Order: sequence, then structure tokens, then C-alpha cells
Amino acid sequence: MIHSGFRFFQLIVLKVGINSLRSLFFPACLSLVCCLSCRSVPDSPISGETVAMNTFVTVNIYDTGTNFENASTWIDSAFAEIKRIEEMATHYSNTSEIGRINYHAGVDSVAVSEELVSLLEESLKFAEESGGAFNVAVGPIVQAWDFLAEQPRVPERERIDKLLPLIDYRLISMNGNKVYLQKKGMSLDLGGIAKGYAVDRAVDVLKAGGFKRFIVDLGGNLGVFWEGTRLIDSAAARILVRHPRKEGEFFGSFKMGSGGVATSGDYQQYFMAEGVRYHHIIDPTIGYPARGVVSVTAMAPDGITADAFSTLVFVLGRDRGMEVIKNTPGIEGMIIYEDDGMLNVDLSPGLQELFMRNYSHD
Ligand code: ADP
Ligand code: MG
Repeated sequence: MIHSGFRFFQLIVLKVGINSLRSLFFPACLSLVCCLSCRSVPDSPISGETVAMNTFVTVNIYDTGTNFENASTWIDSAFAEIKRIEEMATHYSNTSEIGRINYHAGVDSVAVSEELVSLLEESLKFAEESGGAFNVAVGPIVQAWDFLAEQPRVPERERIDKLLPLIDYRLISMNGNKVYLQKKGMSLDLGGIAKGYAVDRAVDVLKAGGFKRFIVDLGGNLGVFWEGTRLIDSAAARILVRHPRKEGEFFGSFKMGSGGVATSGDYQQYFMAEGVRYHHIIDPTIGYPARGVVSVTAMAPDGITADAFSTLVFVLGRDRGMEVIKNTPGIEGMIIYEDDGMLNVDLSPGLQELFMRNYSHD
């Protein structure tokens, strides 16, 4: 659906009805909302919306004097690109490239596209850099938790312990374009990175269309392109960070220029059992949800890095996570955590000047 017209706070509204999307492919989250600050922006962007990767996708183009028909065609191409990546990377199918790798685990290697080889290489790089906190071999454990079930439950400890040897990312072999999972029962799950990658490809499509000011929002994974701006820049987009405990409210906001943003939160896919919250971001060392953090918003020069960092910083926790953000050039981030029932936030140096907390709902 493509239309023109400025819609403030559009995505908070879209959070309603997300459960009806469960049968689709990727975990749903809507954690960020973007809108523009007032600098020389047409008040009617050309917008398009669709559903892909189990979430809502929105594109807004803000170039002045844009031809509607032309922009609509390019927006449709960006959506097609996202859906193409979904078809390649989903693990909810035996026929996708990832599905075929998983199906042949412990039996045979599978020839895949150069594109998937690169995406897996990137994923392994994030695994190495985070000491395994980011781990695309986490599939068997995510399946054991089955967060999307009608009534999810905590799996037996013995079952988790048996699965742990299967989620070793070092058992992913790559030889040219052939990928082999060395043990039967292993499976790849790109849920922590595929949306960020898809955002980057959609941004490339719109750049090829000649657009110079636009935002792609794939379920809270944002790709902002605003010619002449840098990531830490107050010139382009204002990002509203969803309140992790109050649906429809925002926790705070910050401004940014061109780059990627992603959020990982304990409220996106979770269930409660005996007063404990179990959510979908897994600490691969124990096979249980990572503890200590409520949500992480990561900013990076591109969407894939932002997506991987939001997940890996969440797993590493407050101290080690912020250390990694500070030590990695080009990355900024914020970590929301709970202390004595209150929410607090740690900000990386670049965000300190830009972030504004919204206290009106506390
Ligand atoms: P979302 O996709 O909901 O926006 P994330 O980017 O944090 O949130 O990705 C979470 C998803 O990533 C999980 O649903 C699961 O598929 C996968 N995942 C869970 N734990 C890990 C991990 N430690 N490393 C990499 N991927 C993970
Ligand atoms: Mg992620």
C-alpha cells in the first residue's frame, strides 16, 4: 500500500494486531518509531507499507519534488527485495536456503548463493567478536523454548543441556559456496540479523532510485538515509524508543542522521511462568534467556551491524555490553535495565547529548 501523507507516531498504532502475524516468518517487534524533525522537510512524504518477516514494513521518502508514480515503483522494489531476503533466510521452511542447510545437518553440505555465504560470514564475524554471545547456531534452543506456541512453557533443564552441544557456531563449516552443519540436530536461525540485513538491501534499492532522504522501518529495525548527515547528527530523524513496560508509550527519544538502528527487548516475544519473564534472546552459554537487561538499542553505520549489536549487547549484559559498544568504532547504544522496580538507562558517549528521557509516564 503506497500513499502520501505525514503520519506522526505511526508505528505505535501498528503494534495492535501483531499476534495475528504469528504464522509468518520472523519474530515480531516494534520498538522504534521515527518521525522527522522540522528542518526543510516536505510535510507529505511518499509512504508505503507492507508486511514481511512477520512484522510491518514502512518506507517514507522525504525528497522534495518527488514524482509519486516513480517513488511508488521504487518503494515496491524495496519491498520485493525484503521479501526475497526473507525467502532466502527463513528457517520456517525446508526449501529456503537456510531451511535446506538445516535439513541436511549432520548429513551433507548444501550449495547456497554467494549472498548467503557472505551473510553467514558476517554472522560468524559477530560471533567471534562477541565471544559467542551472538550465535546463529542457536536454532535448537530457540525451538525448544518455542516462544510462538499458544502456551509456551519452560523446557526441562535436561533437554536444554542435551541441546547445548548442538549450538556451537564453530561447527558451521563453509567451503566455497557449500555450507555444512557438522552435527545432526543443528540448525541455523538468522532471526537476530536478517531484518537488519534486509533493511540495508532496501536502502540500497532506494539509493539506486536516486532518493536522498528516506527511512526504511522493518519492525523497528531502521535504515535512515539523509544525504549529508552522519550517524550522530541531530539533522534528520527523531527516534522514539518504545517504553519496554508500557505499550503505546515511549521511554525517550534521540535524533540521528544516516545509519541503522535496532532494538532487542525482553518484551518482544516472551511469556511469564511463576512470576519470571522468559524471552527470546538466548544466552548461548546456558541455553536460557539472557538476564540483567530489559532492552538494548544499537546504532551503527548500517542496519546489519545495528541488528547484530542489539542482540549481542543484550546477551553480554550491562557492563560487558557497554564496554563492547564503547570499544567498537562507529557504534553507539543505550541499555535499559531494571533496578529496584525502576527503569534506568546507560548511554554510550555519542548518545549522551542526543537522548531525551520521557518522564511523563513514570
Ligand atoms: P527481534 O528479531 O525480535 O527484533 P533480535 O534482533 O534481538 O530481536 O533477535 C532475536 C532473535 O534472534 C530470536 O528470536 C532468535 O531467533 C535469535 N536469537 C536468539 N538468541 C540469539 C543469540 N544469542 N544470537 C543470535 N541470535 C539469537
Ligand atoms: Mg538483532
